[in-house]
Amino acid sequence: MLDLVAITGAGISKASGIPTFVEMGDLREKLSRDYFRAHPKNFYQIVLDMKKKIDSAQPNAAHRALAECRIPVITMNIDGLHTKAGSEGVLEVHGNLDYVECLRCKKRHGYHEVEESIYCKGCGSIYEPNVVLYGDSIRHFYEAIELAGSCKQVLVIGTSFYTSTVNVFVDSARMAGVKIHVINKDAENEVPKFLKELSSKA
Ligand SMILES: [Zn+2]
Repeated sequence: MLDLVAITGAGISKASGIPTFVEMGDLREKLSRDYFRAHPKNFYQIVLDMKKKIDSAQPNAAHRALAECRIPVITMNIDGLHTKAGSEGVLEVHGNLDYVECLRCKKRHGYHEVEESIYCKGCGSIYEPNVVLYGDSIRHFYEAIELAGSCKQVLVIGTSFYTSTVNVFVDSARMAGVKIHVINKDAENEVPKFLKELSSKA
Protein backbone atom coordinates (compact mmCIF):
# COMPACT_ATOMS: atom_id res chain seq x y z
CA MET A 1 0.00 0.00 0.00
CA LEU A 2 1.19 3.50 -0.82
CA ASP A 3 1.86 5.70 2.18
CA LEU A 4 -0.19 8.52 0.75
CA VAL A 5 -3.30 10.48 1.72
CA ALA A 6 -5.34 12.58 -0.75
CA ILE A 7 -7.03 15.88 0.05
CA THR A 8 -9.51 16.75 -2.69
CA GLY A 9 -11.54 19.79 -3.69
CA ALA A 10 -13.96 20.79 -6.44
CA GLY A 11 -11.33 20.52 -9.21
CA ILE A 12 -11.28 16.73 -9.02
CA SER A 13 -14.98 16.60 -9.94
CA LYS A 14 -14.81 19.12 -12.78
CA ALA A 15 -14.41 16.38 -15.41
CA SER A 16 -17.51 14.71 -13.94
CA GLY A 17 -19.53 17.80 -14.77
CA ILE A 18 -19.88 19.15 -11.24
CA PRO A 19 -19.48 22.93 -11.32
CA THR A 20 -16.91 24.45 -8.97
CA PHE A 21 -17.98 27.10 -6.49
CA VAL A 22 -16.46 29.83 -8.60
CA GLU A 23 -18.61 28.72 -11.53
CA MET A 24 -21.69 28.59 -9.31
CA GLY A 25 -21.50 32.33 -8.68
CA ASP A 26 -23.67 33.62 -5.84
CA LEU A 27 -24.74 30.11 -4.91
CA ARG A 28 -21.84 30.05 -2.52
CA GLU A 29 -23.35 32.58 -0.14
CA LYS A 30 -26.72 30.84 -0.35
CA LEU A 31 -25.23 27.68 1.07
CA SER A 32 -24.92 29.45 4.40
CA ARG A 33 -26.54 28.99 7.77
CA ASP A 34 -27.99 32.52 7.55
CA TYR A 35 -29.62 31.91 4.18
CA PHE A 36 -31.00 28.54 5.32
CA ARG A 37 -32.60 30.23 8.36
CA ALA A 38 -34.00 33.18 6.41
CA HIS A 39 -35.15 31.40 3.22
CA PRO A 40 -35.46 27.66 3.94
CA LYS A 41 -37.68 26.93 0.91
CA ASN A 42 -35.35 28.66 -1.55
CA PHE A 43 -32.42 27.01 0.15
CA TYR A 44 -33.87 23.54 -0.37
CA GLN A 45 -34.79 24.34 -3.98
CA ILE A 46 -31.13 25.15 -4.64
CA VAL A 47 -29.98 22.00 -2.86
CA LEU A 48 -32.49 19.84 -4.77
CA ASP A 49 -31.25 21.24 -8.10
CA MET A 50 -27.68 20.60 -7.04
CA LYS A 51 -28.52 17.07 -5.92
CA LYS A 52 -30.06 16.25 -9.31
CA LYS A 53 -26.81 17.22 -11.03
CA ILE A 54 -24.77 15.28 -8.50
CA ASP A 55 -26.90 12.14 -8.70
CA SER A 56 -26.49 11.91 -12.47
CA ALA A 57 -22.72 12.55 -12.31
CA GLN A 58 -20.20 9.72 -12.54
CA PRO A 59 -16.74 9.49 -10.95
CA ASN A 60 -13.88 10.19 -13.38
CA ALA A 61 -10.46 8.56 -13.77
CA ALA A 62 -9.03 10.54 -10.83
CA HIS A 63 -11.67 9.29 -8.36
CA ARG A 64 -11.31 5.76 -9.73
CA ALA A 65 -7.50 5.73 -9.50
CA LEU A 66 -7.59 6.82 -5.84
CA ALA A 67 -10.15 4.10 -5.09
CA GLU A 68 -8.18 1.41 -6.94
CA CYS A 69 -4.97 2.30 -5.07
CA ARG A 70 -6.95 2.42 -1.80
CA ILE A 71 -5.69 5.90 -0.98
CA PRO A 72 -7.42 7.36 2.10
CA VAL A 73 -9.33 10.48 1.07
CA ILE A 74 -10.20 13.70 2.86
CA THR A 75 -12.59 15.67 0.66
CA MET A 76 -14.10 19.14 0.67
CA ASN A 77 -16.70 17.95 -1.85
CA ILE A 78 -20.29 17.02 -1.09
CA ASP A 79 -20.80 15.14 -4.37
CA GLY A 80 -20.13 11.66 -2.97
CA LEU A 81 -18.11 10.72 -6.09
CA HIS A 82 -15.23 9.16 -4.12
CA THR A 83 -17.63 6.75 -2.46
CA LYS A 84 -19.34 6.09 -5.80
CA ALA A 85 -15.90 5.23 -7.22
CA GLY A 86 -15.41 2.66 -4.46
CA SER A 87 -13.30 4.52 -1.88
CA GLU A 88 -14.08 3.47 1.67
CA GLY A 89 -14.14 5.60 4.80
CA VAL A 90 -13.92 8.91 2.93
CA LEU A 91 -13.70 11.84 5.35
CA GLU A 92 -16.34 14.18 3.94
CA VAL A 93 -15.53 17.26 5.99
CA HIS A 94 -18.40 19.22 4.40
CA GLY A 95 -20.92 16.37 4.67
CA ASN A 96 -22.94 15.06 1.72
CA LEU A 97 -26.35 15.15 0.05
CA ASP A 98 -27.31 11.59 1.00
CA TYR A 99 -30.08 12.50 3.43
CA VAL A 100 -31.78 15.11 5.59
CA GLU A 101 -32.51 14.64 9.25
CA CYS A 102 -35.17 15.63 11.75
CA LEU A 103 -33.11 16.58 14.76
CA ARG A 104 -36.09 16.23 17.10
CA CYS A 105 -37.24 12.76 15.94
CA LYS A 106 -33.60 11.76 15.31
CA LYS A 107 -34.65 10.22 12.01
CA ARG A 108 -33.02 10.41 8.60
CA HIS A 109 -35.03 10.88 5.40
CA GLY A 110 -34.25 10.79 1.69
CA TYR A 111 -34.52 13.94 -0.39
CA HIS A 112 -37.78 12.69 -1.92
CA GLU A 113 -39.40 13.78 1.38
CA VAL A 114 -38.00 17.29 0.90
CA GLU A 115 -39.64 17.50 -2.51
CA GLU A 116 -42.98 17.15 -0.73
CA SER A 117 -42.24 19.27 2.29
CA ILE A 118 -39.22 20.71 4.08
CA TYR A 119 -40.89 20.04 7.44
CA CYS A 120 -40.98 16.71 9.28
CA LYS A 121 -44.25 14.80 8.94
CA GLY A 122 -43.91 13.54 12.50
CA CYS A 123 -43.26 16.73 14.44
CA GLY A 124 -43.22 19.70 12.06
CA SER A 125 -39.55 20.60 12.63
CA ILE A 126 -37.55 21.75 9.66
CA TYR A 127 -35.30 19.10 8.10
CA GLU A 128 -31.60 19.62 8.66
CA PRO A 129 -29.39 19.00 5.60
CA ASN A 130 -26.39 16.71 6.17
CA VAL A 131 -24.18 19.41 4.71
CA VAL A 132 -21.75 21.79 6.37
CA LEU A 133 -22.93 25.32 5.56
CA TYR A 134 -20.93 28.53 5.74
CA GLY A 135 -21.12 29.47 9.37
CA ASP A 136 -20.99 25.84 10.58
CA SER A 137 -17.91 24.07 11.84
CA ILE A 138 -16.53 21.34 9.63
CA ARG A 139 -16.76 17.61 10.37
CA HIS A 140 -13.98 15.13 11.19
CA PHE A 141 -11.53 18.00 11.78
CA TYR A 142 -9.13 16.27 14.18
CA GLU A 143 -9.47 12.96 12.38
CA ALA A 144 -8.40 14.65 9.13
CA ILE A 145 -5.48 16.45 10.79
CA GLU A 146 -4.31 13.16 12.27
CA LEU A 147 -4.71 11.26 9.01
CA ALA A 148 -2.86 13.85 6.91
CA GLY A 149 -0.05 14.02 9.47
CA SER A 150 0.41 10.26 9.79
CA CYS A 151 1.46 9.40 6.23
CA LYS A 152 4.66 10.05 4.27
CA GLN A 153 3.07 12.04 1.45
CA VAL A 154 -0.06 14.10 0.88
CA LEU A 155 -1.51 14.68 -2.57
CA VAL A 156 -3.66 17.81 -2.76
CA ILE A 157 -6.01 17.66 -5.76
CA GLY A 158 -8.22 20.29 -7.32
CA THR A 159 -8.32 22.79 -4.49
CA SER A 160 -7.77 26.43 -5.20
CA PHE A 161 -5.98 26.75 -1.84
CA TYR A 162 -8.33 29.60 -1.09
CA THR A 163 -10.22 27.47 1.37
CA SER A 164 -8.70 27.91 4.78
CA THR A 165 -9.62 24.36 5.78
CA VAL A 166 -7.35 22.85 3.13
CA ASN A 167 -4.55 25.18 4.25
CA VAL A 168 -4.89 24.03 7.84
CA PHE A 169 -4.68 20.36 6.84
CA VAL A 170 -1.74 20.92 4.50
CA ASP A 171 0.20 23.14 6.92
CA SER A 172 -0.16 20.74 9.80
CA ALA A 173 0.91 17.79 7.62
CA ARG A 174 3.93 19.76 6.40
CA MET A 175 4.90 20.55 9.99
CA ALA A 176 4.69 16.83 10.76
CA GLY A 177 7.32 16.28 8.05
CA VAL A 178 4.95 15.03 5.34
CA LYS A 179 5.86 15.71 1.71
CA ILE A 180 3.18 17.71 -0.14
CA HIS A 181 2.29 17.27 -3.82
CA VAL A 182 -0.24 19.43 -5.62
CA ILE A 183 -2.29 18.69 -8.75
CA ASN A 184 -4.59 21.54 -9.62
CA LYS A 185 -5.30 21.07 -13.30
CA ASP A 186 -6.33 18.16 -15.46
CA ALA A 187 -6.83 15.91 -12.43
CA GLU A 188 -8.48 13.11 -14.45
CA ASN A 189 -5.18 12.57 -16.31
CA GLU A 190 -2.60 13.77 -13.80
CA VAL A 191 -3.82 11.78 -10.77
CA PRO A 192 -3.73 8.34 -12.43
CA LYS A 193 -0.29 9.23 -13.87
CA PHE A 194 1.02 10.33 -10.46
CA LEU A 195 -0.23 7.17 -8.75
CA LYS A 196 1.21 4.94 -11.44
CA GLU A 197 4.65 6.53 -11.08
CA LEU A 198 4.48 6.29 -7.30
CA SER A 199 3.50 2.60 -7.47
CA SER A 200 6.37 1.81 -9.81
CA LYS A 201 8.84 3.33 -7.31
CA ALA A 202 7.33 1.53 -4.32
ZN1 LIG B 1 -39.56 15.21 13.42
